[in-house]
This record gives sequence, C-alpha cells and structure tokens, in this order.
Amino acid sequence: MTNEVPQITLNSGTSIPQLGFGVFKVDPAEAQRVVEDALAVGYRHIDTAALYHNENEVGAALKASGISRDELFITTKLGNPDHKSGEVEAAMNLSLQKLGLDYVDLYLIHWPMPANEMFVPAWKAFEGFKADGRAKAIGVSNFLVPHLEALIAATEIVPAVNQVELHPIFQQTELRDFSAKHDIKIEAWGPLGQGKYDLFGMQPIQDAAAAHGKTPAQVVIRWHLQVGNIVIPKSNSKTRMAENFDVFDFELTADEFAAIAAIDENRRVGSDPAEVN
Ligand code: NAD
Repeated sequence: MTNEVPQITLNSGTSIPQLGFGVFKVDPAEAQRVVEDALAVGYRHIDTAALYHNENEVGAALKASGISRDELFITTKLGNPDHKSGEVEAAMNLSLQKLGLDYVDLYLIHWPMPANEMFVPAWKAFEGFKADGRAKAIGVSNFLVPHLEALIAATEIVPAVNQVELHPIFQQTELRDFSAKHDIKIEAWGPLGQGKYDLFGMQPIQDAAAAHGKTPAQVVIRWHLQVGNIVIPKSNSKTRMAENFDVFDFELTADEFAAIAAIDENRRVGSDPAEVN
C-alpha cells in the first residue's frame, strides 16, 4: 500500500509522501499507539510539532516500528514561545532529542507571529539546520502572502512548504497561485475541516461518495490529492486511518471536481495567522 502514495519533490531536492498522518491533539498517553497504528496501516509521513507535546511518543513509535529511517518522512515545528524568544537552536535540538532522530525531513516555523518580527532571524537559523543536515528541508506554516514576500526578500532559501488551513470551504486559491509561482508546496492542515462544519454532508461530497462507492472522508482526501496538496488527516481510530489511506483506487471526474470547487466560501475554521502573536 505504501508504494501507492505519490511522492512530491521539494525545492530541497528531497521528496515528501503526498499523504501523511497528523498528530495534533493526540494525547501523549495515546500517541505512541496511534503512530504505531498509522505506520502499520502504511503511512510513512508523520506530522508533529513541539506544541503538540507528543514528540517523545512519536519517537518511541518510530523506534518500535523498526522501519528504516530512510523510509520515513518526519516533520516537526518550531513552537511559538521558542520562536518569540529566538531560542531556535535549543528548540531544534530538543525536538530531535525527543524524536530520537539525527535529522528531521522537514522543519517548519509553526506560525509567523508577525507582530514579533522574529520570523526572519528564525529562518536564518533554519538555513543553518539545512546546511548542517539537521533538517533535510525547511518550510513554514500559516504564512500569508505578505509574510512569504517579506521572508523571501530577506533570506536565501525559499520555503519548501507552507502548511496552512485548507479544506473545501477554505480552498486558499490566492495562496496556492502565489506558492506555485515560487515552487512552495502547499500542505493542507485541517484537511477534513477538523469536524467543525458538516463537510461530509455537503451535496457534492455526498454525490461523489455515492458515485464511487467511497466515504465522504475519502472523497475529501482524494480531492486534496487531485488539487496537488500534501495532505495530513488525523484520526485516533485505526479503522479511520485505513479508510483515509484507501484513496488510490478512484479518481474524481472533472464535474465532481468543479462541484467541490464551488463549495469554497473563503472561510477559515481556525485562527487567522495575522492575529496569532
Ligand atoms: P482534520 O481535518 O484532519 O480532522 C481531524 C478530525 O476528523 C478527527 O478528530 C477525526 O474525528 C475526524 N476524522 C478523521 N478521519 C475521519 C473519517 N474517515 N471519517 C470521519 N471523521 C474522521 O484536522 P486536524 O487534525 O486539525 O489536521 C490534520 C493535521 O494537520 C493535524 O493532526 C496536524 O498534524 C496538522 N495541523 C497543523 C496546524 C498548523 O498550525 N500547522 C494546525 C492544525 C493541524
């Protein structure tokens, strides 16, 4: 099954499995079991963060799996307090230590926190991590176009990835166009709308699910893949992990794709990055 996941080449030259598994709000008490289940289902790309407080347990699951390091793609993120204080070096080393890894495949600035004006110095530290191999690729999360413009103007390396809220009522077309021009890959967080609205009950999703004999969640993940997004759905249930991974045996038609495009309301369900500081 693992081999079915397309790989996307990043500007670092390394590649990322397009479908991964996120562990936001996975309680530390459950996180090792959850990640072991995800790896058993076939996921090889795991998305965590210092702020999720489960890097230790993610690391324990990676180790217990016995899967070789080069088959895994591990992302973690610089937490906001360490970004704000400029303690980027210490934060990176602590994440690596907790994960039990020598390097991460992708290290992200979790939020731009624009009022602090610290993302450029943080990024300069990130460029060092890429140079010394502690991060194979470096990227950002929750960056709006003006934040990306400011970062690109002031630094050497263009972010490989921008991980942002993205789902059918918030499709981020402007950001996607900007990112395509700069070869910044878009990674969708909250890809299932975080369960905060009745995405699965929407007519175009229901219609496509019925037409293909798939579940609404599978249709939404398939939509992300066909848009070209990297996508990291989360579930604590092994059954749903397997359901979310079983999306490579069908394709949405152009009409189905257009009907889902029309759902867009340009409406977030999460925080506005301009206001997180
Ligand atoms: P999501 O959209 O993946 O939704 C998760 C919820 O959907 C789960 O609670 C689960 O109950 C439900 N679900 C999952 N599979 C389902 C299925 N097959 N059928 C029915 N319900 C199902 O939301 P998320 O976890 O917030 O986002 C995914 C990942 O993105 C996170 O785990 C995290 O790694 C990342 N993330 C990043 C940021 C950021 O600021 N960079 C913010 C939020 C999330």
